[in-house]
Amino acid sequence: MQLIKSSYERKKTKKLMVGNVGVGGDAPISVQSMTITKTADVEGTLQQIYALAAAGADIVRCTCNEPEAAVGLARIVPRSPVPIVADIHHQYKRALEALEAGVDCLRLNPGNIRKPEHIKAVASEAKDRNIPIRIGVNGGSLDPELYEKYGSKVTPEAMVESALREIDYFNQVDFDLIKISVKASSVPLMIEAYRQLSEQVDYPLHLGVTEAGPPPAGIVKSTAGIATLLNEGIGDTIRYSLTTDPVEEARMGRTLLESLGLRERKNVDLIACPSCGRAEIDVYEVAEKAQQAFQDKELPLQVAVMGCVVNGPGEARDADLGIAAGNKRGHLFIKGVNVAVVPEDEMVDALVEWATYISDNGFEAALERAKSTREEARKAAEQDRDRNLQAKGEDANASEAKVAIIEKSREE
Ligand code: SF4
Repeated sequence: MQLIKSSYERKKTKKLMVGNVGVGGDAPISVQSMTITKTADVEGTLQQIYALAAAGADIVRCTCNEPEAAVGLARIVPRSPVPIVADIHHQYKRALEALEAGVDCLRLNPGNIRKPEHIKAVASEAKDRNIPIRIGVNGGSLDPELYEKYGSKVTPEAMVESALREIDYFNQVDFDLIKISVKASSVPLMIEAYRQLSEQVDYPLHLGVTEAGPPPAGIVKSTAGIATLLNEGIGDTIRYSLTTDPVEEARMGRTLLESLGLRERKNVDLIACPSCGRAEIDVYEVAEKAQQAFQDKELPLQVAVMGCVVNGPGEARDADLGIAAGNKRGHLFIKGVNVAVVPEDEMVDALVEWATYISDNGFEAALERAKSTREEARKAAEQDRDRNLQAKGEDANASEAKVAIIEKSREE
């Protein structure tokens, strides 16, 4: 069946990179979501990030609202499967700490950080590190001065002016790795604000209806706003802001793009960890091989390739099927349950074989098939997990060095 795409030409914006994900220009429109865990809770946040990635999020935002969150980010970023954006609230120092932690992008709300010297300090540091910043204007937290200027009302013009002022501060320090959002909870207001902004700038735009509320109304509102703009060729990355499990946000974003013909429906959705100091295989090579092995197969499953058995099965427990490396072997798991152990050079073949079996027979049958090997597989995974921890220690990513810098800067 031929895919009929939206009738409007997409507006060409300047492309920038958030980690390895292009935003703007000719890059596919990306899906974002946001964790609702405390960022200081490293394991809980990583599990949610993996669940969001498995549901279709290309980029995930985590709050960086307190020093402990920046410390958490230093430990999360090296293990995240997707680029991480740090959401900065009122404290520009959190932005500097998040950059130190190694995040791929910042989100600043001009209504909350208003001192030009603070904005410029963050932009200068981001420039040195080549890290983009989203200017996240929010109708509900507009700069009071602008609010008054526009007759004590939140208007599209006021929101656009807030974004333009922030751009001006950034430009004063020669920083232009910028993307912008002008979100509001009113759908007509956000649509008009984005239309006006799109006329005036060629930076990539991040679309969303803020505080859209719980489903189903939240989904309808978000879809009404985002889809209207996308269909006019406006928007480079999107987020559904729903009052529910954020996995639903990622799923809805993906579904919208697929239904507009703006992203292709994948067969196997292959996710892979980014690799880090704990990896026991060349994750890029194995993921590449798996991608090739699955590319012509019609298997609608999420499959994970993970570099270590210490964190792999837990981080990717929402994937339908996965494999984690450990001690020259591959530990296969189905929805987080260990099912088999295979030699390292058979990891990809085993993934294809099990994915085909699941697709033909279902999950219950696959778990039943592994009934006699599950306990042994679990013990082997535990052994290799302990072995890795002994060999590489608790801080395989040297995150603690970054944490020390962040903590030292707090004392100054
Ligand atoms: S190697 Fe292990 S800890 Fe590192 S990113 Fe991959 S799964 Fe996570």
